[in-house]
Amino acid sequence: MKIRVTMWNEYRHEKKEENVAAVYPEGIHGAIADYLAADSECEVRTATLDEPEHGLTDEILDNTDVLIWWGHIAHSEVRDEIVEKLHKRVLCGMGLLVLHSGHHSKIFKRLMGTTCNLKWREIGEKERLWVIEPNHPIAEGIEEYVELEHEEMYGERFDIPAPDALVFAGWFQGGEVFRSGCCFNRGYGKVFYFQPGHETYPTYHNQVILKIIKNAVRWAKPVKIVPILACSNPKSLEKLT
Ligand code: ZN
Repeated sequence: MKIRVTMWNEYRHEKKEENVAAVYPEGIHGAIADYLAADSECEVRTATLDEPEHGLTDEILDNTDVLIWWGHIAHSEVRDEIVEKLHKRVLCGMGLLVLHSGHHSKIFKRLMGTTCNLKWREIGEKERLWVIEPNHPIAEGIEEYVELEHEEMYGERFDIPAPDALVFAGWFQGGEVFRSGCCFNRGYGKVFYFQPGHETYPTYHNQVILKIIKNAVRWAKPVKIVPILACSNPKSLEKLT
């Protein structure tokens, strides 16, 4: 069965800023969705903030195995009831990939329970992204490191709980380091945070970055989705005297 992916983007920078539209004429969501759609294993749709229900209706979420999230300037416009719904979906098994500035999205902060604050600097310095766990499925086929000529610096401390697995660490030319690829288990769901992807740079045209995202989609695919999470009060399996 194919992995049903929904690529969500707030899709504001691309509409407002010519320099971003020049890098992503089809939107950030379009660039990532096009790459994933070329894989016969994936069935991809896109959703954006300004669609009704932010494009995340129950019907769409019922048909989503993995949700990818890119947001930045409009986190506060994401409606709380939709965030509530996504949170429940993740706990019930839906996979979630949170990209770059999505570290401050409501859904990511809710899942982490911390501020998710970090250091940042936007001067287009070089990033060297190191593979920390070469044997992890998300690092499959990736060399020892990837160099991105220009990225926004994200630096420690990143206020997140200790990840269940740290797959990538970023080093920036200015000297900072960052936990750039973090895996978390939340309920039945798997969550991956991935740092590269500032909107003014062609990061999501980089084939290695795209491959990492595809690997992460495969990793986050649910093994089992449960309809609800509830306590139960079962009778004993053995006869108790
Ligand atoms: Zn950025």
